[in-house]
Formats: sequence, C-alpha cells, structure tokens
Amino acid sequence: MLPDIKSLTREELERQFKTWNEPAYRVPQLLDWLYARRATGWDAMSNLPKSLREKLRENFSLHTLELARKQGAADTTQKFLWRLADGQFIETVLIPANPALYGEASDRHTLCLSTQVGCAYGCKFCASGLDGWKRNLEPHEIIEQVLAVERWKNAARGTGHEAQGQAAPSPKPTASRLVDNLVIMGMGEPLANYENLLKALKTLNAPWGGGIGARKITISTSGLAPQIRRLANEPMQFRLAISLHGATDAVRERIMPVNKKYPLTELVAACDDYQKLKGRMITLEFILIAGVNDALAQTRPLAVLANRLYAKVNLIPYNPVDGLPWQRPSEEVCEGFLAALEKLGVTATLRREKGGDIDAACGQLRLKTERELASTT
Ligand code: SF4
Repeated sequence: MLPDIKSLTREELERQFKTWNEPAYRVPQLLDWLYARRATGWDAMSNLPKSLREKLRENFSLHTLELARKQGAADTTQKFLWRLADGQFIETVLIPANPALYGEASDRHTLCLSTQVGCAYGCKFCASGLDGWKRNLEPHEIIEQVLAVERWKNAARGTGHEAQGQAAPSPKPTASRLVDNLVIMGMGEPLANYENLLKALKTLNAPWGGGIGARKITISTSGLAPQIRRLANEPMQFRLAISLHGATDAVRERIMPVNKKYPLTELVAACDDYQKLKGRMITLEFILIAGVNDALAQTRPLAVLANRLYAKVNLIPYNPVDGLPWQRPSEEVCEGFLAALEKLGVTATLRREKGGDIDAACGQLRLKTERELASTT
C-alpha cells in the first residue's frame, strides 16, 4: 500500500520534491490543496502540473474518510462514524460552543478525535475497550477526521443535506474553517500512539495545516506517566487532561486498570513535572458513576490532588453503555459533589451532558454498528 500524503511532514515533502527536482514553491501549493481546500483527489489540484500530479499519484495515496453513519442534528453534538480504508470504524464527535468545558471563552466548535481503533486499556466505564485494541491510527487518519468534518459541514451548508440527515457529496474546495478546538479523547489511548499523534498534531497546529493553536488542543490520557513526561518535553504547549475518575488508588483501580501500572503517586508526580515545565493548568476528568466514585468521601482526596496540581476538575455524569452495568448518579448527587469540591477551594465544573441521547460515550456508535453488521452476515 502506498503511504498517504497527509502522513508526511512538510519537511518530508520538501525533501521528496527536491529529489524529484520540483521547485520549492510547489510544496506550499500542494499543502494549500490538502489542508486549506481539503482536496479529495489529485485531479482537483489544477495549479500543479500534470506531470507532478502523476508522480504524486504513483507514489502516494490520498485517502479520505467515508461517512458510514452520523447521529445528532445541526447545532447540537454530532457524532460521525467513519469507515477507514481497511474497513475498520472510528468515531469523531463535534461539540458546539460550550464555554464551560475547557475554560475557553471563545470556544465555538470542539472536535473530539480518535487515535486508535478500539483500545487496550479497558477502562470499566468505556465502550471503546469492550472489544479490545485493533490498531493505531496513522497520522493521516487522525488529521483527516478534522478535514472530513469540515468538508462535510461545507457540503451540508451548501446543499441542505445535513438537514435531511443524508451523507453529503464531495464538496468544492474551500478555505473556511469550522473547528476551533481539538480534544484528543475519542476512541483509544492517545499517548499509546505517541509518534503518530504528535505527527498529526504538528500538521493540525501548523499555519499551513489545520491552523489550530497548540493551546486549543487538549490531549487526554488515562494516565501513562512516562509518556506524560515525554510530552512535557515537547516544544508545543498542548493542554493536558487526565482521566482520573478516582481520587484514591482503591477507587481508581476499580474503574481504571491502568492504575495498577501507574498508581496515583506516580501519575501525580508526572503531572507535577508537566505542570512545572509547561506552566499550564491541567484538567482532571472525573466521570461520576453511581455507587462507585460519587461518595462525598472522594471529594477531599480529589481536592488535595487538584490543589497540588493547580488543576481544574471536570465532573461528567456517567452515560450508561449497553453491556456495562454502571449507572449515572442522580442530579442531586452530582450537584452535591460539585458543591463539596468548590467548598474545598477547587475550580470545578459539572457537565450538564451534551449528547447523552446519541450514544455519545466514546466507542458506543462503533460498537453498535459493528455488532449490527456482524448480526447481518
Ligand atoms: S477511556 Fe480512553 S483509555 Fe480508557 S478504555 Fe476508553 S478509550 Fe481506552
């Protein structure tokens, strides 16, 4: 299989063009077609000579994601299920303006990206890990989630397909942007696909690529301490979110098997390093699960962690998942947990859930589709 053109960095493209004796100014022209105009085929690249287009076609593929299914209406949370070139499915979620989510006053559209097909980490509340890990996403498959959603949106704007809930046809190239913020917390453990993720994020961050500021990109991890330290030493100022979900080892271990490998002392020490090197506020994600981690006894150790790390806490009422036994706590319990944290001096928010009606918990739509397909074959 040919390598995908969008998995190459700008430097790699420049080297390739030099080898081909192509003038240097052709590289920005190509990048413009790939990332500003989001071209879906070589023939659209009309200002590149035919001979260069042929060389590109012979040496690289130009994959786009195929929309298999979409849930959610315009201006609400929308979930996209994409079919990859090898037939695997991944999910991407588009979340409209929500200033409370990651503290961005200008937050307009946040896109939640997947980084792996399936997941090996088996967090007990999550549908993504139910069928295990299949493979890492390539850089272009991570990047293409942004481009495909923007392409889809532009096409839908122009044709009204979105309102009709149909897949939109290939759009005309356009430079308009939709996505302002990225959260890397879809299917998969991002830091377990470190190299591909970083390569993709460099392109999505670059002015010639996605143009999304590093400070508007949040990487969420289940707590891979060594990779958090590695990320701290990267030059880019990404935001870091930790899927904490338990403020003591005993509670966290019930929910996050990864806690056995990297217990809280180790995880918090890595976060300390990240915080010191980056000077960035860390976010602690805490999914409230009835009878598992929603007791007020969790608020004090959680406050100790949050205050030590200068971290903000996002409380997220659990979205029940088919095949998993846990339930969402009552609104009263969630509000009581928030109030107790605030009383302990913690900056915390409670997500008044978006997307609960559309299988929004990570991995649910993929799982549902795969099982439907399996039952019809
Ligand atoms: S929460 Fe993230 S790390 Fe945990 S199983 Fe789901 S996808 Fe994997």
